[in-house]
Amino acid sequence: MEYTINHPYLNDLMQKVIAKNPSEPEFYQAVHEVLQSIEPILDQHPELIEKQILDRLVEPERQIMFRVAWVDDSGKIQVNRGFRVQFNSAIGPYKGGIRLHPSVNLGVLKFLGFEQVFKNSLTGLPMGGAKGGSDFDPKGKSDNEVMAFCQSFMRELYRHIGPDLDVPAGDIGTGAREVGFMFGQYKKIANEFTGVLTGKGLSFGGSLARTEATGYGLCYFTNCMLAKKGTSFEGKTVVVSGAGNVAIYATEKAQQLGAKVVALCDSTGYIYDKDGIKLDVVKDIKEVRRARISEYVKAVPTAEYHDGRKGIWTIPCDIALPCATQNELDLDDAKALVANGVKFVAEGANMPTTPEAIAYFQSNNIYYAPGKASNAGGVATSGLEMAQNSMRYSWTFEEVDAKLKGIMEGIFKAADETATKIGHEDNLVMGANIAGLLKVANAMLAQGCI
Ligand code: NDP
Repeated sequence: MEYTINHPYLNDLMQKVIAKNPSEPEFYQAVHEVLQSIEPILDQHPELIEKQILDRLVEPERQIMFRVAWVDDSGKIQVNRGFRVQFNSAIGPYKGGIRLHPSVNLGVLKFLGFEQVFKNSLTGLPMGGAKGGSDFDPKGKSDNEVMAFCQSFMRELYRHIGPDLDVPAGDIGTGAREVGFMFGQYKKIANEFTGVLTGKGLSFGGSLARTEATGYGLCYFTNCMLAKKGTSFEGKTVVVSGAGNVAIYATEKAQQLGAKVVALCDSTGYIYDKDGIKLDVVKDIKEVRRARISEYVKAVPTAEYHDGRKGIWTIPCDIALPCATQNELDLDDAKALVANGVKFVAEGANMPTTPEAIAYFQSNNIYYAPGKASNAGGVATSGLEMAQNSMRYSWTFEEVDAKLKGIMEGIFKAADETATKIGHEDNLVMGANIAGLLKVANAMLAQGCI
């Protein structure tokens, strides 16, 4: 892919990013999307260039890489690589998830950390952006091995994080089990009980509705998009990719709002249930047994399982919610979705749609929402968990859910109004990037040359 931009300054900055960060294509993709979309405001905001705000924004404040050695069940020492990218702390302590997946490398975490800066800003809560993780694969490991890894990971990470410094959370491969092991190790080493991680178990400081937050928030955001076009989830057919935390709770909320979700997938294949996904079956497979999605057809023989995940985008639907991973939906998938009648696409995952697919949606009048706006419900609720931990108090599920809904509606309003103001109505990519950026930029300006 060519990462060129018409504006000479932005293009020059983009080429510098590529030269300074070799072999990090996901990071280039994320930076390119943002730089390209802010061109319309450069004349009104000369300080972005004059004060080198953009040059500073694309350079992480700190990047930490470390060895994670641990002993597997056979007694053999395994070695993984751990990372924490502390991208920007202009508006609050660093905040962002920990991804455990074999595909993790510095470039992937830099793209995620960069996106997190804008996402966290959009929530309206005081959180800077970060991301961390490891190339460790929890799949197929025993609980004991996962614990050994998490403890070793935290034995290094603990010195770089803290409740007022950097507060990690879950992401792909990091759920309640992993957060619990990491929290226990941090507490032991630091000798303090603080809200240093979010996504914790409910009995030790976790927030009600955090598990549901990203998927529910995605549907609250999508609901705003639907309402703007005079419609709702009621009676709509929805395809959701993934079968993890985000996908499961997006399915749950879409169903509660009256839609029929007909498909889910994991990295090996997809299920199609024309009668509507039975979520209790999926939760048992994924949350209890940690098994493959193909198991679904054993419990629901009228459903279909297909090897390979790409076919999921050929299923006719009104709304597509990609909730698995980056670049999972490409131009061919976008063409298949449009040909089959999709009208709304909202991202639950981070950067799941390729740039070519986004352009195709936009040029075919499909209402599209970028993950940094539509999936911000997870980190927003993590922010609410931090607030509850600081107060030594906990809100009810209904209280947290109502705050989450209000935050998602606020993010939609900010992105929608910004897009309209710059003359690009319904371009939520531009709206989200610009609204997220200006708040961070103002804080950076006020804090001087840092
Ligand atoms: P999980 O680990 O719970 O689930 C990920 C799901 O996606 C699994 O079903 C996994 O299948 C599937 N998957 C992974 N890679 C692929 C692939 N290449 N093709 C198809 N399916 C794939 O992660 P989450 O649900 O937490 O995260 C999903 C996405 O949402 C990520 O992009 C994450 O960054 C983003 N996100 C998550 C938030 C959260 O609160 N959890 C907050 C905001 C964004 P398999 O089991 O086969 O690997």
